[in-house]
Amino acid sequence: MLFGSRLSGEHQALLETVRDPVCLVCARADGAARRALEGVLRDGVNDVRVRADWRKRGGLCGRHWRVWRHLDSPPLSTAILTEDLLRSYLDDGTGLAPRCPGCEIESRAEQRVLKALGSIPLERLDEALAEGPGLLCLRHFEALPAGDVKERFEARFQLLLEHLREQVRTSDHRFVNERRGPHADAWLRALRVFGADV
Ligand SMILES: [Zn+2]
Ligand SMILES: [Zn+2]
Repeated sequence: MLFGSRLSGEHQALLETVRDPVCLVCARADGAARRALEGVLRDGVNDVRVRADWRKRGGLCGRHWRVWRHLDSPPLSTAILTEDLLRSYLDDGTGLAPRCPGCEIESRAEQRVLKALGSIPLERLDEALAEGPGLLCLRHFEALPAGDVKERFEARFQLLLEHLREQVRTSDHRFVNERRGPHADAWLRALRVFGADV
């Protein structure tokens, strides 16, 4: 709920994410899935309902197992959960095509974040975009309804285009002194625009 210049939690979080050169929606949705997996790793392995749910689903997709792998201290929780999953597979073949809980949380978060982005106070978004490199990937740009907010992110693509050209131009040894600057990470931002998980 907005009162005057007060921001909702999601709006605040989105504006903070603009500080990083990432897709705002991907970053927030990734974060939601990561926090849920952290919860399972910490406490969920002791919860029979969580374990039954994971058994029924067949565990995580490959991408979320990779996220899981890099959480804090995964060996014991992984052993407990995968013992369950492997046993289920051997008993009745469950797990060949997992219905990943991480993906489900992520896609619910995506809808929530896109809705919040559509109603973010424009002047606050402009302030944040003037300071930070945050952007949208093409998929989330497409999912945004036409309007002022979408125009802001279209302008980001134009700026990125300029930065990419600048990066190529300054790669010539004659311009070595101009290589630093906002265009230096243009290649990385472009990868993220195209949905790279990097
Ligand atoms: Zn995205
Ligand atoms: Zn997944």
